[in-house]
Amino acid sequence: LAPERAARVRSLIRDVPDYPAEGILFRDITPLLADAAGLADVVDGFAAAVAGLGEIDMVAGMEARGFLFGAPLATKLGVGFVPLRKAGKLPPPVERVEYDLEYGSASIELRTGTLPEGSRVLLVDDVLATGGTAAAAADLVRRSGGVVAGLAFLLELAALHGRERLDGHEVTTLLRVG
Ligand code: AMP
Repeated sequence: LAPERAARVRSLIRDVPDYPAEGILFRDITPLLADAAGLADVVDGFAAAVAGLGEIDMVAGMEARGFLFGAPLATKLGVGFVPLRKAGKLPPPVERVEYDLEYGSASIELRTGTLPEGSRVLLVDDVLATGGTAAAAADLVRRSGGVVAGLAFLLELAALHGRERLDGHEVTTLLRVG
């Protein structure tokens, strides 16, 4: 994103202290989604940022906010979209990857047979925090026969070092905060 647009997009992300739990600074993208120019700038920004990743055959979005940018980006790139869903949302058969959270664990699923063998997949989400979700998503794509072409996020929370969990992958973020 050009600096002026980046500043405007950043101003449309609302920082909400102590949500959903004390000590968490939640980055709320709903004001950005509601802004026609802001939303278009983000989708265009993603398309420009991933242009150097080589061929992309499919965009995969992480539930739920990855769907909001992933599907319009797929349309712009002229490829299909795959939802990576939280456990129990997709009808069988599914591939599943479990991963650890700070407390407990979670899993994400992808419908078996969605990815043609060897297809190059771009993963998309709104926020890169610890990188746990994204690492699991990359694993899921690989196990389902895809190749991770790269991962793209609107906002990187650099202090949480999520990028290090994604070592070996191409990681693109439109905005970065400390
Ligand atoms: P993580 O696995 O820690 O990288 O967390 C990534 C997922 O949690 C993404 O799907 C984000 O949408 C969400 N997330 C994590 N931290 C925040 C935050 N501070 N504000 C908004 N969403 C967040």
